[in-house]
Amino acid sequence: MKILLVEDEPKVVEFIKKGLEEQGYETEVAYDGQMGERLAIKEKYDLIILDVILPYLNGYELCKRIREKGLQVPVLMLTALGSTDDKISGFDAGADDYLVKPFEFAELLARIKVLSKRSSGLIQTSRLIKIADLELDLDKKTARRGDKIIDLTAKEFALLEFLMMNKGKVISRPEIAEKVWDITFDTGTNVVDVYINILRKKIDKDFQNKLIQTRIGLGYSIDEP
Ligand code: CA
Repeated sequence: MKILLVEDEPKVVEFIKKGLEEQGYETEVAYDGQMGERLAIKEKYDLIILDVILPYLNGYELCKRIREKGLQVPVLMLTALGSTDDKISGFDAGADDYLVKPFEFAELLARIKVLSKRSSGLIQTSRLIKIADLELDLDKKTARRGDKIIDLTAKEFALLEFLMMNKGKVISRPEIAEKVWDITFDTGTNVVDVYINILRKKIDKDFQNKLIQTRIGLGYSIDEP
């Protein structure tokens, strides 16, 4: 069983991680909300333990995004705040349970056991990334825009996935080259531009709303039109 722990306080991380690993749970840690989002989408976890107050992206917002992506992984929220309003915010965001800090490790463990039992009966849905009517299925490795199925090679898929994971962010050519091709950009290659053009033909050409944007001198981005 693999657990993602999203928590920014090192002492709490240490306490939970150590306890979970003693119980035989594989545990990965994200120290802020953004990193948590990235890992939650990219990797498969059996459970996510999510703190509320986090850098960059708070736990409620992160939980909402996880649900928007169609992920049904059980989410256990950790909160230092115990008021009814906070509980409701957590459940509204799609959390399955919550635990008020400070807590005994045995209590955490009991909740984890209940949640994992409940989720083992769930049918896993696909992991989807969606921008406007463009949809990427990370499990099936398929892409579609509206009703149109789009055929992509492995590299084209990787590039589109990288852009979509960074929705709205302008990403420079060197960064794309490094993250998608694992090469440094100073080799004078135009591979990034070539592939962006291919993607444009495949996902934008036949549609009125263009999703891929060029920012001259800065790089590329993908966003809602
Ligand atoms: Ca915190």
